Amino acid sequence: MTEDRFEKELELLGVLLSETQKNQLETYYKLLVEWNEKMNLTGITEKGQVYLKHFYDSATLVKVIDLKEEKTLCDIGTGAGFPGLVLKILFPHLEVTLVDALNKRIVFLENVIETLKLENIKTVHARAEEYAREHREKFDVVTSRAVAALPMLLEYSVPLVKIGKYFIPMKGDIAQEIKGSEHSIKLLNVNLECQEKFSLPLENSTRTILKFRKERSSHVKYPRKFSEMKKNPL
Ligand code: SAM
Repeated sequence: MTEDRFEKELELLGVLLSETQKNQLETYYKLLVEWNEKMNLTGITEKGQVYLKHFYDSATLVKVIDLKEEKTLCDIGTGAGFPGLVLKILFPHLEVTLVDALNKRIVFLENVIETLKLENIKTVHARAEEYAREHREKFDVVTSRAVAALPMLLEYSVPLVKIGKYFIPMKGDIAQEIKGSEHSIKLLNVNLECQEKFSLPLENSTRTILKFRKERSSHVKYPRKFSEMKKNPL
């Protein structure tokens, strides 16, 4: 996806890019490729592919929520910053928290944040299930792309969401996963408000964005320890 096409596709999503935002994305792309030579951040490095599969794909979260109306966003298992860091660039008013269990990715993210002079964004080196136990009901939006199967993802992400607010995982093609998550959806008191299934432009691979609304507090015993979640999924 060329930068011009990216800009047009974002317009279709209702996001108009300023020159500053375009330059920030360009710098982010350069840093991603540069650091990727020293550490494994992504398998995708060709510019058009990064703009399509990382930048555009991250932006598609706006298909299910108006981020202008939200204040705090947490990205679980953000890796090299997808979708959380891209969303911070596109919606500078957001207070963003990027969580990842791998410290070398956190070091990369810190470098991008500093280079782009982004404010009100922080990184957390932690496992999601530990972070969630200490930060219950703190965020308007919790999101996550390509991190874990839905039942486990729900267990450690939903406790972070404020009552009446949203957990929005970004997935591929997942009809089966939703069926296998009915028990966790019930236990964690969330309601699947909508699911947006679409194809990425140009290459037509399937994406599904789920929007869960948290109706009531989730039980304090969730999330359990990782070993327990793995042994005995909800
Ligand atoms: N979200 C990014 C993306 O879509 O490009 C990264 C996806 S990568 C496949 C999964 C990331 O989740 C890795 O960076 C890994 O360290 C992180 N991760 C996996 N399990 C985690 C957990 N329980 N807590 C925090 N981070 C986790």
